Amino acid sequence: MTDAAISTAYSQILDVIGSVEPRIAAATRQELEDQRASLKLIASENYASPTVLLTMGTWLSDKYAEGTVGHRFYAGCQNVDTVESVAAEHARELFGAPYAYVQPHSGIDANLVAYWSILAHRVESPGLEKLGAKNVNELSDADWESLRQELGNQRLLGMSLDAGGHLTHGFRPNISGKMFHQQQYGTDPETGLLDYDALAARAREFRPLILVAGYSAYPRRVNFAKVREIADEVGATLMVDMAHFSGLVAGKVFTGDEDPVPHAHVVTSTTHKSLRGPRGGFVLAQEEFAGDVDRGCPMVLGGPLSHVMAAKAVAFAEARTPSFQDYAQSIADNAKSLAEGFLSRDATLVTGGTDNHLVLLDVSSFGLTGRQAESALLEAGVVTNRNSVPADPNGAWYTSGIRLGTPALTTRGFGHAEFDRVAELIVEVLSNTQPGTTKAGGPSKASYVLADGVAQRVKDGSAELLEKHPLYPGLELA
Ligand SMILES: *Cc1c(COP(=O)(O)O)cnc(C)c1O
Repeated sequence: MTDAAISTAYSQILDVIGSVEPRIAAATRQELEDQRASLKLIASENYASPTVLLTMGTWLSDKYAEGTVGHRFYAGCQNVDTVESVAAEHARELFGAPYAYVQPHSGIDANLVAYWSILAHRVESPGLEKLGAKNVNELSDADWESLRQELGNQRLLGMSLDAGGHLTHGFRPNISGKMFHQQQYGTDPETGLLDYDALAARAREFRPLILVAGYSAYPRRVNFAKVREIADEVGATLMVDMAHFSGLVAGKVFTGDEDPVPHAHVVTSTTHKSLRGPRGGFVLAQEEFAGDVDRGCPMVLGGPLSHVMAAKAVAFAEARTPSFQDYAQSIADNAKSLAEGFLSRDATLVTGGTDNHLVLLDVSSFGLTGRQAESALLEAGVVTNRNSVPADPNGAWYTSGIRLGTPALTTRGFGHAEFDRVAELIVEVLSNTQPGTTKAGGPSKASYVLADGVAQRVKDGSAELLEKHPLYPGLELA
């Protein structure tokens, strides 16, 4: 599709939307302008291709298709069958996985599917066999109650939130922390690095049914072969949540021991982060777990989002090209450039650097909390998010860190020089920001004072970079 054709298509679509609800058309237009004008460093965000975006906007959304390919609870699903099987085929081939399930609507859904399929495989099926029943509907009320208790009393070991894990890895306020008896592992308090010996010791002591690896805010690669050894030693099922870094796996930046797919029993992911697809999730599994993962619906899902599965197929196809491999390598190279840009300006990074797509800047050396840094940066047009650092003295709300990722700006074409300049702009904001005071006059963890003129100077600096690397180049709305 040419730039002119895409521009015409979107302009007309927005006119049609605006004729029904002008505020939605206006917000959609404004979002493009805002995204174009901001330095987006949120590590979990990206910009999907116009093809991926267009694929979501169709009547495939209208179809109910609960069930699996060729085995639906609704009639007339032949086209959804095609969509789902093409998406799953691309996912299997892209990641070299025996089995792929592309129905989950989000990363959290993918994790729920994975957790319940592991429980089904390891607890429910053996329980049924012992009771001589084929399925749960055959059980007496008393037998079902005891099996249900057993399903709800299993152990899960995941990485703690403040070490970089995700809330779905056993954090108490999340359902994963309520459905499992959970414990968390952290990182070495000195180095900030994952300590495999400490993890092994914790696993030996706790003996989890499920060991979860993967992260949202850990700036290093993980040796999944080692984690699998630990899981095997204690009889745990290894689940890797690659939501953040699946683009680096797809793009063959993480290979061998750093590729989770050959080592984990079950792998989950989002599609919209470094993988640059539509918002969504998916699950990959070894054969042993495939049948259970396949029952994601009715286990925890309802009807699949067929229009999004179509866009996943397109995104997976895009990720199978050599240009995506170049993109993935640039994500990692650019993160190194960003880290070096900070280190050369005397800023402090958790673990002292990065070898993936993100950098965790410890802002306490600027005398700020993460909340203050995040707000001051936003005032200067730099979009980031605050994040805990290991053993954070400011807790999970105010935090002491800022998480910065390279996938989005790498999509815009930023390279080494641009990311060095980004580090310079960020340091300029933070070194010109002072903590504010509370209404009562005490020190505040939230308010801040940014020196006069800095916000505008940094905005001008960002604008120069952003204009050189336009978002959706060629897309002009009439
Ligand atoms: C983002 C993320 C998720 C959740 O994805 P959603 O699509 O927002 O539900 C799950 N796990 C990890 C590790 C993540 O980073």
